[in-house]
Amino acid sequence: MHVGRPNIGDREAFIGYVNDIFNRRWLSNNGPLVQEFEKRIAGYLGVKHCVAMCNGTLALEIAIRALDLKGEVIVPSYTFIATAHALQWQEITPVFADIDPVTHHLDPDAVRRMVTPHTTGIIGVHLWGRAAPVKALQALADEHGLQLLFDAAHAFGCSYQGKKIGHFGRCEVLSFHATKFFNTFEGGAVVTNDDELAKKMRLMQNFGFAGNDNVIYPGTNGKMTEISAAMGLVNLESLDAFMEANRRNHALYSELLNAIDGLAVLPYNEREENNYQYVVLEVSDWFPTPRDEIIRILQAENVLARKYFWPGCHKMYPYRAYYPHAGMLLSNTTMVADRVIVLPTGMTIEEGHIRTIAGIFELLAHCSASKQPRLSRTAVA
Ligand SMILES: *Cc1c(COP(=O)(O)O)cnc(C)c1O
Repeated sequence: MHVGRPNIGDREAFIGYVNDIFNRRWLSNNGPLVQEFEKRIAGYLGVKHCVAMCNGTLALEIAIRALDLKGEVIVPSYTFIATAHALQWQEITPVFADIDPVTHHLDPDAVRRMVTPHTTGIIGVHLWGRAAPVKALQALADEHGLQLLFDAAHAFGCSYQGKKIGHFGRCEVLSFHATKFFNTFEGGAVVTNDDELAKKMRLMQNFGFAGNDNVIYPGTNGKMTEISAAMGLVNLESLDAFMEANRRNHALYSELLNAIDGLAVLPYNEREENNYQYVVLEVSDWFPTPRDEIIRILQAENVLARKYFWPGCHKMYPYRAYYPHAGMLLSNTTMVADRVIVLPTGMTIEEGHIRTIAGIFELLAHCSASKQPRLSRTAVA
């Protein structure tokens, strides 16, 4: 059995929606399910506008273009590559700023150091679903006349100072990819309280059509399908169950792994709403088994443990060629990328799995790299 799989809500309800879609023969182009989905998401977050999209990356590209970003935009390097690519794809230069080693978020002082006369914006990332330093980044953006938006791909259902993620910056971009807390197979959205911006993004996502036969903008195709909206409507009904499973898993992982010397599970702020989707384990460099070896062992046991965002966007193509010395400015990024393991969670993970995984770490804590324990292939299977 593989440990770590997407969350899926009520299958029967989904199949009911699929039959409705076939009966209507309305498969895409702002169908009734997409319209309902957008209303439900906007209502859940309390924002004025939700523009549903085919995926999070295209949603980011459209948001970036709708905000007229040009020149240079400051982003973290410790993020999914799409944050940087969404800029590069439209010939805007992503400039990487370092993170805070404790929170893994953009460090506002590091951002300030990267501002140049070419800078037009900042993309904050609510990494792991924990909010980026919204206030400090907004103050910096205001001070330098920069646009601020957020890549909120991890943060659906999470809050910052008691207010749902979705309200901050000019707009926030969500991803509903299969691996995210809440999925629509593939999908995404931009949410905003800005009427003009929402209108512009709606034009852009549908080829610039302002009505039949009337194109008023050079747009693209960012539309969500009815099937994806159906999956979203079904999964919305199970959000609380997904969240509760993740919360329980995160609490048990934390209890068991934090008791082992050299391991620390990144905590969530319990005063906020969290989706607990990421169990982020930091392995100290003095832990007896190196991080990569731990991952190899866990994967051999069919546990889908992974490095994440390693080695940082700045070391990937094409950015590593543009900024061969970027690493000198990104020491915290390198340090964090080298010690993180993300452990599997979600509805398919049970208490027994977590206890077995913790048992493997117990063994690894007591042997040197050259003397790995022999684990049976059936330990988790
Ligand atoms: C998943 C993800 C994206 C891209 O979303 P897709 O829906 O997969 O295109 C962007 N940024 C971050 C931080 C992500 O984790």
